[in-house]
Amino acid sequence: MPAFKPLHERYEIADNGCWLWTGARQRDGYGTFEVNGKCIVAHRYFYEFFNSTRIPPGMHIDHLCKRKRCVNPLHLEVVTPGENVRRSLMKTECKRGHPLTGDNLIIRPTGGRDCRACGRFWSKVKRDKRYAEYYTKYNALLDR
Ligand SMILES: [Zn+2]
Ligand SMILES: [Zn+2]
Repeated sequence: MPAFKPLHERYEIADNGCWLWTGARQRDGYGTFEVNGKCIVAHRYFYEFFNSTRIPPGMHIDHLCKRKRCVNPLHLEVVTPGENVRRSLMKTECKRGHPLTGDNLIIRPTGGRDCRACGRFWSKVKRDKRYAEYYTKYNALLDR
């Protein structure tokens, strides 16, 4: 019998903080692992383990990051089946039309969702503005 591969060796951490399951996957895309011949759904296990709780029967686990493979407990939330449906209708694009999925989606510790591309855009705007101010002052000095 092969040695049990520790669970922390079965996922890789993505840039946006997702823990992407690299182990076996179910037909529906969710990560899974086997203990004593029993199939465990990885993200549900991670949620229960890190929150020291049981998922109440009938409740769903929603991925804030929309990645089925992700097992980061901070990206998982217990929701009612109805809430899950409502969430799936949630915006999948930011105001400027970037996809709010995958690496472009940043999840704040408070559960809010941000667009990475827009964050980059605004920091560039701020930087460009600083340069513009600098050059204006500099040119003003030269004109004297
Ligand atoms: Zn995630
Ligand atoms: Zn955006």
